[in-house]
Amino acid sequence: MQLDSSSPVQSYSREVDNDSESLDFNTLFNHFNIGVIMLDEEWQIKQVNSTIEKMIGFNRLELKGKKLIDLLHPDDNLPGNTALSGLSAPSTGNIDIERRLIDKLGQARWFRLIVNQVKNDVSASCYLLMVEDISERKETEMVKDAFVDMVAHELKNPLMAVISALRLAKKEGQFPDVLPELVSIASDGAESLWAILENLLEVSRERAGRLKLSPVSSDISHLIKQVIVTVPQTLIHRIIMNIPENLPAIVVDPARFHLVLRNLVDNAIKYSPKGGEIEIFVIRSGEEIIVGVRDQGIGISKSNLQNLFQPFERLGVTNTVGSGLGLAVCRLLVTYHNGRIWVESETGKGSTFYFAIPLNYLKQGSQS
Ligand code: ADP
Repeated sequence: MQLDSSSPVQSYSREVDNDSESLDFNTLFNHFNIGVIMLDEEWQIKQVNSTIEKMIGFNRLELKGKKLIDLLHPDDNLPGNTALSGLSAPSTGNIDIERRLIDKLGQARWFRLIVNQVKNDVSASCYLLMVEDISERKETEMVKDAFVDMVAHELKNPLMAVISALRLAKKEGQFPDVLPELVSIASDGAESLWAILENLLEVSRERAGRLKLSPVSSDISHLIKQVIVTVPQTLIHRIIMNIPENLPAIVVDPARFHLVLRNLVDNAIKYSPKGGEIEIFVIRSGEEIIVGVRDQGIGISKSNLQNLFQPFERLGVTNTVGSGLGLAVCRLLVTYHNGRIWVESETGKGSTFYFAIPLNYLKQGSQS
């Protein structure tokens, strides 16, 4: 139930303006599935409805006589809260704010608080506070904020690389020797940006039901080589390929195959901070092609292996930038090809990610 801050509480003033008429308060407000608190002029709690008891766990006897400010989260006790703290009354209109209240277990939850001043004929006044639980909405907002923050950080590094390289290159004639290197840095940065944006777009296409593959009969070794030329080169990593000759053609969406392998190779580099070999290998197994990416990096603990392919899972890595979307997108795209993806890993020794795709996933009745 959504609260309307212009609720017609004024018309109930006669019923709620003193203790002796508390029966009316109960009959009026106990049926609401929004919380209602009646406060006196000093902002002390006089009455609450049963929804408030359920919301914050205190019963009405425990709440009676408390000041509203006693229930507020200390961080939300801002200067602007003087009205709520009882230091000043709202001069005009309603207060309509979002604040955390602490429940009986000491846990903070978000609520929307709407305060209306109610006056009776002899100018005594009290306040009616309507309370709406908005903790779910707040949680969604916080997840979104954290996600935007994470993506912004992930975009920042490659974008800075592109900008810096292009700025230097623009200084015509000054750095002719390093021009090819600058172009290569800018191009690597642009490729990384492309991969990050593609991951985001794939998730959004899937959520909107618009993810459609464009399958083409393809040469797997050619597809893998195309990925390798786009991966930023580092001095400490060595990428090697182990692809058997005479592999049959495979029906895949080349752009999606590219993104899956690119994500896995990017991760192999990112999670091998000390460098080492990154091997991309292919195995034919019956009517399936298995592609593997093996690194000698930090590895993944057994307890973390389970949630690895869930969106936004970052498994406590704090010193690398990422959105936690890469593996989720890999699983999504491999599954769209009727394939499977899995990992073998040992902490401190490295990881091998595998994905298997049928030679022709279309024959298996998948969507196109
Ligand atoms: P991101 O790299 O953006 O965090 P991913 O979905 O690509 O997101 O990976 C999810 C998590 O899986 C990473 O945060 C990391 O903890 C772990 N991970 C992925 N690939 C590897 C790898 N090759 N070695 C070790 N850990 C990895």
